[in-house]
Amino acid sequence: MKDKVDMLINNALVVTMNKNRDVIPRGFVAVRDGKIVDVGVGDGTSKYEAEEVIEGRRTIVTPGFVCAHTHFYGVLLAASTWFGLIEPPTDFQQNLQRIWWALDENITHDDIYAASLMGSIMFARTGTTFFKDMNSSPNSVTNGLDYIRKGAEEVGLRGYAGFCATQRRSLEEGFKIIAENERFVRETHADPKAKVKGFFAVHASFTVTDDVLIKTKELADKYGTIYAMHVEEGLIDVYHNIERYGKRPVERLRDIGFLSDRFVAVHVVQAIDEELKIIKEYGVHVAHNAMSNMINGVGVPRIQRMLELGINVAIGNDGYVFDVFDNMRSTYLVHKVVNKDPRILAPLDVIEMATINAAKALHVDDRIGSIEPGKDADIVIIRPEFVPTPLNEKTVYGHMVNTFTGQDVWGVLVEGRWVTKERKVVTVDVEDAMERAHKTIARLWDRMASMEEKYKIEYLRT
Ligand SMILES: [Zn+2]
Repeated sequence: MKDKVDMLINNALVVTMNKNRDVIPRGFVAVRDGKIVDVGVGDGTSKYEAEEVIEGRRTIVTPGFVCAHTHFYGVLLAASTWFGLIEPPTDFQQNLQRIWWALDENITHDDIYAASLMGSIMFARTGTTFFKDMNSSPNSVTNGLDYIRKGAEEVGLRGYAGFCATQRRSLEEGFKIIAENERFVRETHADPKAKVKGFFAVHASFTVTDDVLIKTKELADKYGTIYAMHVEEGLIDVYHNIERYGKRPVERLRDIGFLSDRFVAVHVVQAIDEELKIIKEYGVHVAHNAMSNMINGVGVPRIQRMLELGINVAIGNDGYVFDVFDNMRSTYLVHKVVNKDPRILAPLDVIEMATINAAKALHVDDRIGSIEPGKDADIVIIRPEFVPTPLNEKTVYGHMVNTFTGQDVWGVLVEGRWVTKERKVVTVDVEDAMERAHKTIARLWDRMASMEEKYKIEYLRT
């Protein structure tokens, strides 16, 4: 008598990302009630009777990819006329003031929803199933996170959403944002149906006072959630902390009791060795965003040194390019260039950063990040239409980083439910969503264009 399962992905090359990093050249994954119930070698139909069998000719099965740091609202500028038409910012500070803060102050609830929907569709099409989003829209704070949740849940993804607490305009603003984060944490963590849950986000240490940092840590402890902040993305963060506090950013964070293993430090581009050692000591996770660091021209973090120290490094996209294959490939390459050493980072290193390491950083590795019995069935099925060289258990990591793109993703499951199948999103009408989002985004750009002068603001008015 065969066991009944909902789905059997059969005769596929299975990249498990389990503890031993087993790759099964011809194996199966059995799914029942949204969970992975078995992962085995050979033909699974001899063991299981499945409602749906996906036969795996030239098929690679991987865990759903996890994005450790994104901003869906980044979609609102992606490939936009803004990047093409306006004068490029000269540095990181100008980039924030003239582009990102000009954008975020104009964002409405409709824009948040459009961004979440478009971002989630881009994630789904290319294999990312779980994310951590940090929203910023200071004039649409109240209930704003509900619109992140709405877009992502309609597409069928899961993740975390939080508002970036900042005091760049007023001291009160920081606490108003923290209150919104707390509301969303309270509501979503108590709701088993919520696929997008709350967490506590802070913009950066150079736009907040210690009070905001301490309050954020206190609430993250109270609710047992993760919390995250941009750390040393640009040099302005370092200068600000040295000028005002006589310390580097990571030292200041340590001294006020902000650091813990539930903290995700985003970027960490400028950190010196002493700071990396502090990060290691407190079990802080690092979200690395290679392509964002490139377009912003802020530098390249010392990822190799972080790995040597045993720091958990995960990949994010910082709201820039949503195809995880592009982000893995960029991460794989940039550290070789900047260190003039092709030995730095193997393909498996960057695949870990986009799967199990990212799940660890977000404290969801008990549920996702690998293909193992008992975990949620968040699964990516890759079916490349063309592979130039043999594809087997020895070459698959190399192909994932050097050959494949998001276009090769054939299907995506989240908790055993199809989100994309046969290279199409099946949960929402993409054409319809796109048309509505484009109209909303065009209106946003009009508002930005008419207010350009206003945004020559200082970076911190405290
Ligand atoms: Zn960011």
